[in-house]
Amino acid sequence: MQVQTAQPRQEQGRFVISLDFEINWGVRDQQTLTQYGANLLGVRQAIPAMLALFEEFQLRVTWATVGLLFFGNKADMLAHLPTVRPEYADTNLSPYLALEQVGEDEATDSYHFGSSLIAQIRRTPGQEMATHTFCHYYCLERGQTATSFRADLEAAVRVAQEQGMELRSLVFPRNQYNAEYLTVCQELGITSYRGNENSWIYKERSEEQQSLYKRGARLLDAYVSLSGHNCHSLQQIARQFPYNIPASRFLRPWSGQLQALESLRLRRILSGMTHAARHGQVFHLWWHPHNFGVNIPQNMAVLRRIAKHYQHLHTTYGMQSQSMGDMAAELQGHAPVTAN
Ligand SMILES: [Zn+2]
Repeated sequence: MQVQTAQPRQEQGRFVISLDFEINWGVRDQQTLTQYGANLLGVRQAIPAMLALFEEFQLRVTWATVGLLFFGNKADMLAHLPTVRPEYADTNLSPYLALEQVGEDEATDSYHFGSSLIAQIRRTPGQEMATHTFCHYYCLERGQTATSFRADLEAAVRVAQEQGMELRSLVFPRNQYNAEYLTVCQELGITSYRGNENSWIYKERSEEQQSLYKRGARLLDAYVSLSGHNCHSLQQIARQFPYNIPASRFLRPWSGQLQALESLRLRRILSGMTHAARHGQVFHLWWHPHNFGVNIPQNMAVLRRIAKHYQHLHTTYGMQSQSMGDMAAELQGHAPVTAN
């Protein structure tokens, strides 16, 4: 039997998944619980289902988690809030002005606490606990400053450390990437962040600058290629520190209304993964657990197709599953940082 020579590691494609774990902290300023509550409650079924699948397919995943979710009860949450807080021109953006909506503990308020889910994530092999800032912080909104951003990230790092976790990877809420804040990130131990897709339709913007036209273009891009595959080489990623591991594609939730287009959406993701595997590049897929909070069987079926495709690309091209922390550690020449 002929023994195949393994490809050099640099040539192997990488499959990165990052999840923005936020429950209501990520949507509270845009949607009411009446509108979106079912999705948020469904996170408690969706996360165990995703974790089982990640374990089955040995997928290493980055969970960019809002710091406010790390608590089991309100007293503990209030004791850990930063003293310097963002003073957004649009006060609706600040969760600190809406704390009266938070219940006493996770058992009575499923929307604002995540302690038990974080414990499940930590128990699953290959999962990386990362940060989505402490308060779902908006880095491009008017009124907030680098000082309040630092206080926010310090609060996130502190609570994670108290619970025995080191945060290394960051996802900017609403993808409001702010280059001026990277120094703060680096000083607080962050080694990588998820940059935006490299196309004008994904360029970071504050909420008031988002146009409907651009939102429409992003929707269309999920089905047909407007922006290309958005894959990147490790050499490109290694150029700056903290490393920018850019998003390739947002995994849109399954849609009954757009069912006819579902196969196009899946094909677009699978072909991007294949492109990365063949060219030794990085394909970075992301979504929020609450996107899977309704239509869970349909969403999980899509995820299983993606995982099976990864398995095929792993066997055929040696593609590797890596968390953001794994990739940053590799680029820095260290062993993977995830606990498992
Ligand atoms: Zn978010």
